Amino acid sequence: MNYEKIRSAFLPKADAAIITSEVNRQYFTRFPATDGYLLITADEVLLFADSRYIEAAQRSAKNCDRILLYKGIEESLKPVLEQKGIKSLEAESDRLTVSELRSLREKTGVDIVSEGGLDKAVDALRAVKDEEEISLIKQAQKIAENAFSHILGFISTDRTEKEIALELDYYMLSHGADGISFETIAVSGANSSLPHGVPSDKKIENGDFITMDFGAVVGGYHSDMTRTVAVGSVSEEQKRVYDTVLAAQHAGFSRLMPGVCARDADAAARDVISQAGYGQYFGHSLGHGVGVEIHEKPNLSPKSAAVLEKGNVVTNEPGIYIPGSFGVRIEDMALITEDGYENLTCCEKKLIIL
Ligand code: ZN
Ligand code: ZN
Repeated sequence: MNYEKIRSAFLPKADAAIITSEVNRQYFTRFPATDGYLLITADEVLLFADSRYIEAAQRSAKNCDRILLYKGIEESLKPVLEQKGIKSLEAESDRLTVSELRSLREKTGVDIVSEGGLDKAVDALRAVKDEEEISLIKQAQKIAENAFSHILGFISTDRTEKEIALELDYYMLSHGADGISFETIAVSGANSSLPHGVPSDKKIENGDFITMDFGAVVGGYHSDMTRTVAVGSVSEEQKRVYDTVLAAQHAGFSRLMPGVCARDADAAARDVISQAGYGQYFGHSLGHGVGVEIHEKPNLSPKSAAVLEKGNVVTNEPGIYIPGSFGVRIEDMALITEDGYENLTCCEKKLIIL
C-alpha cells in the first residue's frame, strides 16, 4: 500500500491522518468493519478495532503496523496521539459527519483539519487499481456475466420485473458473490425509459425491451454491467436506438486510453447519440470508476477534468431513454492499460431477441 502519497498530502498541514469511513478503512486494510479508525502517522499505520472486530482484524487486516483494541476516543485514541506527540490530525471531509468531527476534536484535544485534501489523495490512490484489486473485480464481473447468461433462459412473458431482478441476485449470491453491487435494476417496456427505474410487478410482454443493470461484490470489490434485450420482436425504432447506443459505446471505447481527458471519452459517445437525433435522451454521464465503491473516481462526465491512467477501472454506459416509450443502456467495465483498455465485460452485445 502506497502510504507515501497520503503522507505527502497531509504532512504539510497535520501530523497524522485519521481514516474514519468504513469504505476507506476497508480499502487500506482489506478488512471490513463497520467501526474503527485507521491512523496514518509519519512513521506508522495503526488500526483501532473494537472488541467485536479485534480478533478478526489481527487475523486478516493488511497494510498496518499495529492493531490496537479500541474502547473509545478518550480511552484508546487520545493516549496514542499523546505518546506520539501528534498535535494535529487531518480527517476526511466527504464522509465524516459534523457531530463526529466535533466529537473527535473535543475528545482528542488536538487540531482537526478537514478540508478535503485527504479525500482527494485517497480517491486518487483508489482510482488506480493494483493486481489484487483487478483480480477481485474480474472475479465479480465473471459472476455477473454468468448470471446474465442464466437470466436469458429465465426471461419469459410469465415473469415479472421483480422476479428477474431477484433471480439475478439469487444467481450471483449462490455462485460466489459476497453481495450484490447495488439494488438490481430490471425494467421493461415503458419502464425501461427510466434510467434507474425500480423493478415492479409488471409482467414481461412481447415487444418489450428489458434493461438489466446489476453487479456482484467479491472481497469488497464491485462489478457493474447493463444489458438491454428484447422479447418477441422489435420495431424499427427500437432497433435504431439500440444500434445507436452500441455505436456510441464503441466511440467511447475508442477514447479509453491513458492520457485522455475523461470528458473527451464522454463527448465521443455523446456525439454519436446527438448526431442520430437522440441527444436530449442521454441525460447521464458516460461512466464512472468502480472499486470498493460502485461509483468512484474517475468520472466520465461532460465536466470531468480527470485524465485517464493505467489501472483505472471505468464503466462505458451510454443510454437513450425515450419518455413513456422505451430505453436502452449498454454498460461494460474496462481496465485502462498501457496503451488502451481491456474490456472486462465479455458477453454478447448484438441485440438479443428472446
Ligand atoms: Zn450499472
Ligand atoms: Zn454504472
